[in-house]
Amino acid sequence: MGIEKVIIIGSGPAGHTASIYTARAGLSPLMFEGEMAGGVMPGGQLTTTTHIENFPGFPESISGFDLMDRMREQSIKNGTTIKTMTVDRVDLSERPFKVYCNNEVTSAHSIIIATGATAKKLNLPGEEALWQKGVSACAVCDGGLPVFRNKHLIIVGGGDSAVEEALYLTKFASKVTMLVRRNILRASRVMQDRLNKNDKIDILWNSVPLELYGEDSLTQVKIKNIKTEVESVMDISGLFYAIGHLPNSGFLNNQIELNNTKYIKTHPGSTKTSIEGVFACGDVQDSKYRQAVTSAGTGCMAAMDVEHFLITKS
Ligand code: FAD
Ligand code: NDP
Repeated sequence: MGIEKVIIIGSGPAGHTASIYTARAGLSPLMFEGEMAGGVMPGGQLTTTTHIENFPGFPESISGFDLMDRMREQSIKNGTTIKTMTVDRVDLSERPFKVYCNNEVTSAHSIIIATGATAKKLNLPGEEALWQKGVSACAVCDGGLPVFRNKHLIIVGGGDSAVEEALYLTKFASKVTMLVRRNILRASRVMQDRLNKNDKIDILWNSVPLELYGEDSLTQVKIKNIKTEVESVMDISGLFYAIGHLPNSGFLNNQIELNNTKYIKTHPGSTKTSIEGVFACGDVQDSKYRQAVTSAGTGCMAAMDVEHFLITKS
């Protein structure tokens, strides 16, 4: 078998943007789109949500599934070969690099890693049935939907994301309650100061959700105070997890430099990783912005970085 010029691993907005750009640059990319890798369908995290209202070009909004379907179609139309397989492991010890799926091996001169991240959930009773029916892991994405307007909402978590998302939700909600599992926030001082100035937010300390209730959408949550062990049920219209994300970087087996939360480290202002010829884009290297459009942006950067790498190395 020949050696691929570039292999793209992952099929969210980052992977497909990298694929469209590398295909248009004549690099005939091969994409491994995953097969329920990280628990999501090919197309990535957006396939798990309904309305995307902040991706430019869709003033009437578009469903996450349709948006990713269109990106996939555009990748293929421009000349990308897509395999519905999950990459089990890679060997980056020498070039060409090797990519393994189900014991099949493919070699490539360069690799773009676009495997995304998975928002942590708690897998509570009721959570699966009510997912995207009042329960979400992305307040910035879903919080502005009509169902949450002027309603009492809950954020689970006490880090910077939780505070930022609680503040964001106050634009729409009548009230926001944060469930914090300790008696202290992990969030930075500056974020805590902003929180303290907002009288729409209250905090339930030492508290965790135990169970979610609702027929067609979330209506109640059972909460436990883990200090007093007292349980109570609260009427609620929305619950947002902000308890961190897990980047899908495990399959790399630490062959690339990661930060202390397992996100791939990239050189500032580029998508280069610690291994020459291997590039990373999207949420797998971004613990901060985590948006479709920023992922697509870094996907474009990765494609241009690959093109430059292949020209200078050939
Ligand atoms: P992902 O979308 O995470 O895609 C990565 C893909 O790689 C997945 O398909 C995965 O299966 C695959 N993969 C993983 N490991 C492997 C492997 N080993 N081999 C092969 N494939 C692999 N952002 C917005 O801008 N607007 C929104 O409205 C919005 N709504 C959201 C709603 C929800 C519920 C969630 C969870 C997120 C939302 N986001 C939104 C965030 C947005 O989805 C992400 O920022 C974006 O999808 C990240 O893109 P990505 O390409 O980096 O990775
Ligand atoms: P963090 O890991 O910082 O915080 C996660 C929060 O969720 C913590 O309060 C943690 O509690 C809580 N938590 C974790 N697991 C559970 C659980 N099972 N049940 C209940 N609560 C749980 O993640 P973030 O996403 O908030 O932040 C990630 C990084 O991004 C940080 O470095 C942060 O500073 C940065 N960031 C910065 C922003 C900014 O500066 N504006 C905005 C957003 C993120 P505990 O504290 O007890 O562990």
